[in-house]
Amino acid sequence: MKKLLMAANWKMYKTVAEGVRTATELAGLLGAVPEDREVLVCPPFTMLDAVCPILAKVGCRAGSQNFYPAKQGAFTGEIAPEQLLDLGCTHALAGHSERRHVLGEMDELIGRKVDFGLNAGLHMILCIGETIVERRLGQIEEVLTRQLESGLAGVLATATSENLSVAYEPVWAIGTGEVAGPDEILAAHAFVRAKLTALLPQEGPRVRILYGGSVKPDNAAAIIRLDNVDGVLVGGASLNADSFSQIVLA
Ligand code: PEP
Repeated sequence: MKKLLMAANWKMYKTVAEGVRTATELAGLLGAVPEDREVLVCPPFTMLDAVCPILAKVGCRAGSQNFYPAKQGAFTGEIAPEQLLDLGCTHALAGHSERRHVLGEMDELIGRKVDFGLNAGLHMILCIGETIVERRLGQIEEVLTRQLESGLAGVLATATSENLSVAYEPVWAIGTGEVAGPDEILAAHAFVRAKLTALLPQEGPRVRILYGGSVKPDNAAAIIRLDNVDGVLVGGASLNADSFSQIVLA
């Protein structure tokens, strides 16, 4: 059975005390993770040490929002996959739209992160998605193709549904309250599925495709029931334990 992956991205929010409180509340609300779901929280680095054990007690995973693709070295301000694994992280995001569009990360670096992180033992979540301008110019498929091909270039022989997921997050829907409509999600996810199957003939049909972009308790249930939607990646609504638990249990 393909479990739904319900993932939280806390971005650059919360002090350690606030993160511990939210994780503790979430653990209490979930009790134990439902059989057909996997729950992942990606907190800021500062609180991984404190939050990972709280999540682990109820079977929730912890992930990293980012890392640098090297074992160790002179990379001031960066963090390595080994350091994240050491703290209890099992997953990591690569290519989140804020890293692409605010921090200027390019496809080539994102591809190296997917390759390095996956080989280091992290389950990689490759985030892709078009801007509103690209959508208006009719470039959605071109953008998704480029981001998937470069993001997965190094892992075509090693990626499986156990170590790779893809998150389709239209940039115009992230943090805007403007969720993509069902037809838009269906079309994009069907395209991503076909592309994944072409790139990874064995594993592509099983790799989970998450939707991200203004997922809330009141729209989550309808989104996860759409074809080729195998979970969600949630930003704003994951900062509150009550609203994220409603999404997880939707
Ligand atoms: C995200 O950060 O990946 C995201 C989808 O944010 P939000 O849910 O706030 O749109």
